[in-house]
Amino acid sequence: MLVRNICLPDGREAQDLLVQGGRIAAIGPQLLSPESVEVVDGQGWLLSPPFVDAHFHMDATLSYGLPRVNASGTLLEGIALWGELKPHLTQEALVERALQYCDWAVAKGLLAVRSHVDVCDPRLLAVEALLHVRERVRPYLDLQLVAFPQDGVLRAPGAFDNLKRALDMGVDVVGGIPHFERTMQDGAASVKLLCELAAERGLPVDMHCDESDDPLSRHVETLAYETQRLGLQGRVTGSHLTSMHSMDNYYASKLIPLMAEAQLHAVANPLINITLQGRHDSYPKRRGMTRVPELLAAGVNVGFGHDCVLDPWYSMGSADMLEVASMGMHVAQMTSQAGMRACFDAVTVNNARVLGLPDYGLEVGKNADFVLLQSRSPIEAIRLRAQRLLVVRRGRIISASPPATARLSLPGRPERIDWTMPTF
Ligand SMILES: [Zn+2]
Repeated sequence: MLVRNICLPDGREAQDLLVQGGRIAAIGPQLLSPESVEVVDGQGWLLSPPFVDAHFHMDATLSYGLPRVNASGTLLEGIALWGELKPHLTQEALVERALQYCDWAVAKGLLAVRSHVDVCDPRLLAVEALLHVRERVRPYLDLQLVAFPQDGVLRAPGAFDNLKRALDMGVDVVGGIPHFERTMQDGAASVKLLCELAAERGLPVDMHCDESDDPLSRHVETLAYETQRLGLQGRVTGSHLTSMHSMDNYYASKLIPLMAEAQLHAVANPLINITLQGRHDSYPKRRGMTRVPELLAAGVNVGFGHDCVLDPWYSMGSADMLEVASMGMHVAQMTSQAGMRACFDAVTVNNARVLGLPDYGLEVGKNADFVLLQSRSPIEAIRLRAQRLLVVRRGRIISASPPATARLSLPGRPERIDWTMPTF
């Protein structure tokens, strides 16, 4: 396949991209077309590496309203509601909902997802279901699974054994939820226990960490410390980290360099953080998202996750990582040119680093996975939630959408509307 006349996220214009054997063979202006190659006219649109979601819950997705909706809108009622739903889950329903979500993801150009999977049910139904889904979708979507003890690895009876069984079955990453353990001490102990398990097994770590408005929830400090102590630098992710929003500024100024030193990845979940946090506040209401610009400035890799779509915690969502980027940009007030571009990176290259995807990116020799977006720049893609004109995996088109437009009948005005603008 040869895609002609595209622009790239780094600003290069009028480029071509050649695919051979499922990999990117060349990028440059006016490439020579080998014989019998399929030529696609990119019409100057933006060709981006695919979207990546660094934090999701595929075992809960599309279950909204089962068995009832979350009345208070809090994280804690969501966890309780998920507990009510768990006994009624069937493997067939879990698989079907996950596959349906993966279809949505592909259509939105989202081709890699790290999903947490609850391991507190001793039957490990959801683990089995998602391991099956991981294989089913492998030709078109990279699904990475995190063994997630939703009810607390120390607080829930049997959870540590279930978690280890899930890893034995092939789950990729060690999860945790220290702020949900019974005490601060237990939370810290759970971080130590789980990091030691990951070190022993040579696995990455991704914990739900400090997902609260409590400024004294400081498990990320322990996570950074254990990462250093066990030599896990670059393999550990702190997800949510919402307590950092409410922390004392002096303490945050000490913490952030420690996180950078441990090469911790940070994942914010803008849609969910702005929805679930601050629920115990009257006014002013805290936004609850972690300190994204400050972490980026300190050299921490920050990704944005979708976290939830139509589940006990969130009643919205459509697998659109541009919606996630847009919310992150607004909540963090990252409205400078560099800030808006960084929000696009947060749902593409930064998340790929969190997942450790080795052949990701628009470079010669990398996988020919990309999305043609109906926009002229990453910033415009966020503004327009740009249409995914083509989604390509290993050089094969796996989804296509018509350009977004509207027919106008207004005196003296053009017939078709065009929402794009000349690039800045
Ligand atoms: Zn989560």
